[in-house]
Amino acid sequence: MTMEVPRTQDLEKNAQSALQNQFLRKALWNATSRFLGSRQAAVDRMPEWEQWREGARQIKEETLAHLDSHLERLIRQVEARGGVVFQAADGPAACRYIVDLARARGIWSVVKGKSMTTEEIGLAAALEGAGIEALETDLGEYIVQLAREMPSHILAPAIHKSREDVSTLFAEKLGLPAYQQVDELTRVVRSQLRDKFLKAGMGITGANFVIAESGTLVLVENEGNIRLSTSLPPLHVAVVGREKVLPGWAELEVFLKLLPRSATGQKMTSYVSFLSGPRKKDERDGASEFHLVLLDNGRSGILRDPELRESLHCIRCGACLNICPVYRRIGGHAYGWIYPGPIGSVLTPLLLGLEQAQALPFASSLCGACEQICPVKIDIPRMLLALRRRVVETLPRAQTRARFPRALRGAVRLGSWLARHPRWYRIVAHAVAAVTGSDNGWLHSLPGPLSGWTKSRDFPSLAKTHFQDWWKRKKP
Ligand code: SF4
Repeated sequence: MTMEVPRTQDLEKNAQSALQNQFLRKALWNATSRFLGSRQAAVDRMPEWEQWREGARQIKEETLAHLDSHLERLIRQVEARGGVVFQAADGPAACRYIVDLARARGIWSVVKGKSMTTEEIGLAAALEGAGIEALETDLGEYIVQLAREMPSHILAPAIHKSREDVSTLFAEKLGLPAYQQVDELTRVVRSQLRDKFLKAGMGITGANFVIAESGTLVLVENEGNIRLSTSLPPLHVAVVGREKVLPGWAELEVFLKLLPRSATGQKMTSYVSFLSGPRKKDERDGASEFHLVLLDNGRSGILRDPELRESLHCIRCGACLNICPVYRRIGGHAYGWIYPGPIGSVLTPLLLGLEQAQALPFASSLCGACEQICPVKIDIPRMLLALRRRVVETLPRAQTRARFPRALRGAVRLGSWLARHPRWYRIVAHAVAAVTGSDNGWLHSLPGPLSGWTKSRDFPSLAKTHFQDWWKRKKP
């Protein structure tokens, strides 16, 4: 199987075409609104929400400050319970290890639970390249794998597809009658997967958290496919980023409160699995062999970067995608790689290199909604600004000029000058407000270089009372 090649460089072209796709925009808006509504209801029922967020942030800071010692403890615990730990420096090393392991055990069929970390390293493609069938068992992942697409949301990989799309896809790939109901489509996938679960020699998952104190993997899910992937095949491999470690169970409690509520608005997901090593002699269920692949893949470098290390706090809840005015309009594929949305615009340049993903830090209005919704209080706008600065500092001058056209540079210079000359600021602000007034508060077209904005959305008209007047009246 060949996964779609990352095209982070095509962000602007991808975004333009996504904006023309009315169906996609409607689907994204509806799905993200549902997620946001459920999250808000869950948060409203928790008056101490802000304290939990602050607690989570402190735990992450503290844990990352002593990451090596937590990892050492984790490794000792996993090995003491009969598991094998492999520390992979990068994606190819992790893929090689897993492919070699499958070959050594004579395994040609693998089932996978949803895992962004395995997407990050292209594990399914590596297994398929070695002639090993690697089947995604999460319904959304199964759909995008069948369509040979990338996931378009951290949590809901097929968020961009309608029921009709899925029905047509299943008719084409699985020979089903077209125009099936959702229940019927789900039933077909379930029956196909049952057989695969029973025959697979290896189950591969990620993990939401790993607990150093006891060497325990924690996996949260709603479909039950991860539980089957870890318990039916005789061999379980978990691919986990080094930053997922938590010191102990007390810290886990905080994150188990925040993650499901932020992701889907649930108090708790339908399944939460705690796995500590392979099956013991007196246990009936579980894999008899367990390997933990601890993935670095650039994480150590990010940890050493004081401006951007905060990105390692991310627990992949997807909330910042759902609230982002850019993601909600262009969807995940426009970003060109597997981590979309605000946090993707930080992670992708860090993991793929700034050169490959230099447009992404600019794919944000810097409205700050992502920071406000993030359960770990990650300051994404600050990191986006830091990356923008690095792009400007590292790009050759000609490229910088192409990225920031003359009109934009002129407007920024003018804005900067006006901000330093309050009298002129006042005159210009009054004049612009008078010229751009609108009855309903929105401008449908702007002149000259500003017209790019109104090609695909309206612009809020300037307030009739501007800030200086308002402040004069308010100030004591
Ligand atoms: S950055 Fe925060 S809101 Fe976004 S996915 Fe990560 S944890 Fe969730």
